Amino acid sequence: MKRLDVVVVGAGTAGCVTARRCAELGLQTLLLDRKPQNEVGQKVCGDEISKSHFEATGINSPYDNEISSVIDGADVYPPSMKNELKVRGWSDFDGWTIDRLTFGQRLLNEAVKAGVKFIPNIHVGPPTIAGDQVTGIHYRDASTREETTIKSKIVIDASGFAAVIRNQLDGPLIENNIDKADVALCYREILSLKVPLAEPEVARVFLGGQTAPRGYAWIFPKGIQEVNAGVGITGGSGRGSPKALFESFKSNYPLLFKSTVIDGKGGAVPVRRPLKSLVGNGVAFVGDAALQVNPIHGGGIGAGMRAGIILGEVAREAIAKRDLSANGLWSYNTRYLPDFGKRLASLEIFRKLLQGVTDEDLDFGFERRLLEADDLIAANKGGGISIGIVDKMKRAKRGAGRISLLLKIQKASSLMKKLGRVYATYPSNPTGLESWEKNVLSIIEDANFQ
Ligand SMILES: Cc1cc2nc3c(=O)[nH]c(=O)nc-3n(C[C@H](O)[C@H](O)[C@H](O)COP(=O)(O)OP(=O)(O)OC[C@H]3O[C@@H](n4cnc5c(N)ncnc54)[C@H](O)[C@@H]3O)c2cc1C
Repeated sequence: MKRLDVVVVGAGTAGCVTARRCAELGLQTLLLDRKPQNEVGQKVCGDEISKSHFEATGINSPYDNEISSVIDGADVYPPSMKNELKVRGWSDFDGWTIDRLTFGQRLLNEAVKAGVKFIPNIHVGPPTIAGDQVTGIHYRDASTREETTIKSKIVIDASGFAAVIRNQLDGPLIENNIDKADVALCYREILSLKVPLAEPEVARVFLGGQTAPRGYAWIFPKGIQEVNAGVGITGGSGRGSPKALFESFKSNYPLLFKSTVIDGKGGAVPVRRPLKSLVGNGVAFVGDAALQVNPIHGGGIGAGMRAGIILGEVAREAIAKRDLSANGLWSYNTRYLPDFGKRLASLEIFRKLLQGVTDEDLDFGFERRLLEADDLIAANKGGGISIGIVDKMKRAKRGAGRISLLLKIQKASSLMKKLGRVYATYPSNPTGLESWEKNVLSIIEDANFQ
């Protein structure tokens, strides 16, 4: 078989957007997924996506029956369930809850219309490798059991959390063995409520060790009387099961009493900074396979779509200049990581702060407003938490008695800024990666708030 330009493994949101961009730019692109065609898009998810990602990528916003609800604000509850933070005007969160299947089918159709060849029911196995260069993939057709090898100039791993290509590779640019503490294990249900929602446009988030140790619970509206509700906790031993925690939450939260379960399933999502390099020789990673997820709320649809647009463009450049090495693909790193990747990385520190404070401290912080809604919005933009001197003094007064908590907030703020500065100097070629990574890891190790 003739060598293809690009093979994209996985037709989730990241894979469809990447494949479409490659085809739009004239690349001969094959997209493979193990699902049947009519199930592409189905995914255990909170279903929430911000408008900002569509504005940034030019992808058409969800419309018609792709939309379940318009989301215009979030209420964040501390463990006491009192003094919640009402976050409004959060442009990086506000948007929609979507019907994942309908939305996913549209992204697939757009890719196919752009010229992508899609084959469903394909289980992709290991990559083929020559020396240290990825040269293609092996796959098995799920219906015929036939095994095939495909040669491709660039292989793109968009297989989600499974990262089926990345996990078969090694070398100085490749990261595997993602720490369990950086993975959120989740369980979510789509519920039909007994009573209509009072504020059907407001998402609710619940923090606290009882509800969701080192994670959070959520209730996202899906219409007037339906919600997507779940619990996500970061892994590691002894944290309990997300499903059991959700059952307990459901039996304690009156809105969910006597609700009917439409669907209930578990899933996993990485909640760490993105991979240190999104490329290797002849290979690139996108979406969950590249750890492109917001570490505080686990939102990865937008982060992967943003990356897919860049990756399509970089793939074309690399093929045009006939440099399929990591070096030839490196501009995917330099365009994504110092920009959107920097935001995601600094939020890993914010996540560690939230995980490192006790329930009592969280309650106190919410009661005294040591963190305001604006801080959350600013933190989400990746610039740290910018607290002016006057404001700092006011907060110090409000925080009297919990100086240690104030110091933790201040430390997180300064580490977020420091990490942002390191990301701004992402190396221009693979040679500088090792020392850059050392700087990143020393900041991440410092982000200990226990
Ligand atoms: C419970 C939960 C709640 C979430 N809530 C939100 C939210 O509200 N908002 C948000 O933005 N994000 C949320 N996320 C994260 C979001 O779902 C992911 O970040 C996003 O879907 C990742 O897209 P992707 O295309 O990278 O991967 P996926 O959507 O996982 O797609 C990967 C594709 O690869 C295919 N595949 C895998 N292995 C193979 C193989 N061997 N051969 C062939 N095909 C293969 C799969 O079938 C799949 O279609 C949540 C995640 C979870 C688990």
